[in-house]
Amino acid sequence: MAWKASWSQWSIRWILLCILVLLVSSYNDSELHLRTIRLMKQAPLIDGHNDFALQIRRLYQNKLSTINLRILNSTRTNIKKLKDGYVGAQFWSAYVLCSSQDKDAVRLALEQIDVIKRMCNEYDELELVTSSEGIVKTSKLACLIGIEGGHAIDSSLGTLRMFYDLGVRYMSLTHTCNTPWAETSSYGVHSSYQDTKSLTDFGKEVVKEMNRIGMIIDLSHTSFSTSREVLNVSKAPVIFSHSAAFALCKINRNIPDDILKQVKENKGLVMVNFHTEFVACQKTANISTVADHFDYISRVAGFQSVGIGGDYDGVNGYPSGLEDPSKYPSLIQELLRRGWKEKELEGVLRGNFLRVFREVEKVRDEQIYLNPSEEEISDDELNYSCRLDLRSFEPKNLQKSGGQEKGRSMLDLILNVSIIFLPVLLRELRGW
Ligand SMILES: [Zn+2]
Repeated sequence: MAWKASWSQWSIRWILLCILVLLVSSYNDSELHLRTIRLMKQAPLIDGHNDFALQIRRLYQNKLSTINLRILNSTRTNIKKLKDGYVGAQFWSAYVLCSSQDKDAVRLALEQIDVIKRMCNEYDELELVTSSEGIVKTSKLACLIGIEGGHAIDSSLGTLRMFYDLGVRYMSLTHTCNTPWAETSSYGVHSSYQDTKSLTDFGKEVVKEMNRIGMIIDLSHTSFSTSREVLNVSKAPVIFSHSAAFALCKINRNIPDDILKQVKENKGLVMVNFHTEFVACQKTANISTVADHFDYISRVAGFQSVGIGGDYDGVNGYPSGLEDPSKYPSLIQELLRRGWKEKELEGVLRGNFLRVFREVEKVRDEQIYLNPSEEEISDDELNYSCRLDLRSFEPKNLQKSGGQEKGRSMLDLILNVSIIFLPVLLRELRGW
């Protein structure tokens, strides 16, 4: 009987302990949630990469008048979800498929910039900005434009400068294809420019010109060798707009430790990608899997080099709990739970990117005395023939066709004169 009494006493104590643990953990969760929301209101997220504009083209042929971006539900992203996720600024990707290289890549990039600008002008909640100051000053959701894939400039520094004038503030040097001047991380996906290795001399000119005009260099999608070389050449900090840690998922799209250390020295930024296959190397993942990359990258490169580049609407698989941009607070809450300090998370959300952007603008301002680069890529580096070469074509052909015109005029004159004087000549002959 005594044994029975003591057993029931222990059972009651055990149940009370369980209830206490549950109460404490739910109190902690709601406390963490409140801290998360307070933090994200103070420091709204600057997200490095979103492919929504690609989906607008794919699903609606860029016909914005046919859709409502506030509540669109055929995509991961809409304005409501961005607001629910406390997104303060979004880099919209002007993504150009690699299959357009050497064909209509420039036109496609222009059309994607056009649709992003129209979208940001037409909705009161959005505002296109082109500077670090613009991000800070606006009370709206700031829109920024990034080009994904260096083939969009068709190996032309003039085209690069014109994209800057249109408001583009970063360019990923490659997508899944080599350009004539930079090597991609995706080997064998496209057959173009197989001989390109790392960053060529013209590629170095592209990097220097981006530094000079104040366009941020994005190394997501570039090969390890290209990234290392760019980090040696660039005077300004660089970003990886949507990449993760190679040590945790060994694929070429992620960043190995030596490059993470270079990024730290460069005072650059890794904006962590959420794509399931990039963070977990398999088709399933959760918030914790993504948080592991934040922990790892901050250990190797410092928390000042960590940001967020969710890559929504660019891929198919996202971790459970991070299915769309409205879920960003869940990640921040997990990082708080893991012991990240609020100051560090302010940097991850916003401060680290603003620091990089301001430094890129400073490097631009320090080079104000430099003239625009007039370097051109050599013909030998291009392996297609449909480029009009105005250097040799126009003057030669103008001369040639001018000569022919002149010759034809002389012949016409002789014929005309002969026709006028022929009757006179015949009359004279008859008189003989
Ligand atoms: Zn991408």
